[in-house]
Amino acid sequence: IDKLKSGLEKTKKQFVDSFSSISFGRKIDEELFEDIEMILLKADVGVKATEEIIDFLREESKRRRLKDGEQLKELLKEKLYEILKECESPLNLGEERPAVILFLGINGSGKTTTVGKLAAQFVKDGKSVVLAAADTFRAAAIDQLEVWAERAKARIVKHSPGSDPAAVVYDAVNSAKSRGDDIVLIDTAGRLHTKEHLIKELQKIKRTIKKLMPDQPVETILVLDGTIGQNSINQAKIFKEATDVTGIVITKLDGTAKGGAIIPICKELKIPIKFIGVGEGIEDLQPFDAKAFVDALFD
Ligand code: GDP
Repeated sequence: IDKLKSGLEKTKKQFVDSFSSISFGRKIDEELFEDIEMILLKADVGVKATEEIIDFLREESKRRRLKDGEQLKELLKEKLYEILKECESPLNLGEERPAVILFLGINGSGKTTTVGKLAAQFVKDGKSVVLAAADTFRAAAIDQLEVWAERAKARIVKHSPGSDPAAVVYDAVNSAKSRGDDIVLIDTAGRLHTKEHLIKELQKIKRTIKKLMPDQPVETILVLDGTIGQNSINQAKIFKEATDVTGIVITKLDGTAKGGAIIPICKELKIPIKFIGVGEGIEDLQPFDAKAFVDALFD
């Protein structure tokens, strides 16, 4: 919880602290709502979500006969929690072993780091973990995953650079199945030059998994860079059109004041947020908990 709080410091300043200082000592009127609107937009909450929040503040403050601007803070907190709890959902690891989690996202979003952190957490929980180096496009990506495998004490399955990602996935899942491993985490390439290419590659990977494990759900997790704020929504839409994305990770929230974008990300994409990244350490990848998130912003 402390890690979460310090990780969200910049967003808290830009968002909740600005909200508090603009409403402090003011009476509730249209002028105040206009000022609040500016604050929310600056905090990267986005036009639609801002409108919804302002409407809620306006109606609820009237209904509850509130007079003082300070009282709006509690309402804002309630509303954020109501929005964000819709996006809470634990990982679905299925009934069989291994569980398979496929990671997508453009280069630099924090994909490999997320895979590494998650591997370390599963290993800590006593699970045996296999990392599949299916980003065969960049040699550096394979090397980086290898460093994480060592750090996390996970096994890695890799082929040489340039080889077929689906073949890596086949070997990883197949070997995990025969050795009785618990979890396979698949790191894929972040190339997005053409949507057709992305679709083909992801379909092939998913077909490969299905062939080996027909009844197993495949969590398909899109990793989004939190520092680009709302811009990640358009990026996510491209992936969402290419394949069935079942979850999101928002990384690097510690390095940005744009964490308010989590609200439009949640509302517009309607994909569960599985984890958030609030730092570079292993423990800095946290399951997304709407209440803890909102509390960290408002404390
Ligand atoms: P990939 O290209 O998508 O695999 O991205 P990487 O995993 O290589 O991450 C890119 C950079 O982001 C690295 O320097 C990571 O250490 C950094 N990074 C990833 N997640 C976080 C996070 O939650 N917080 C911070 N501060 N940095 C992160």
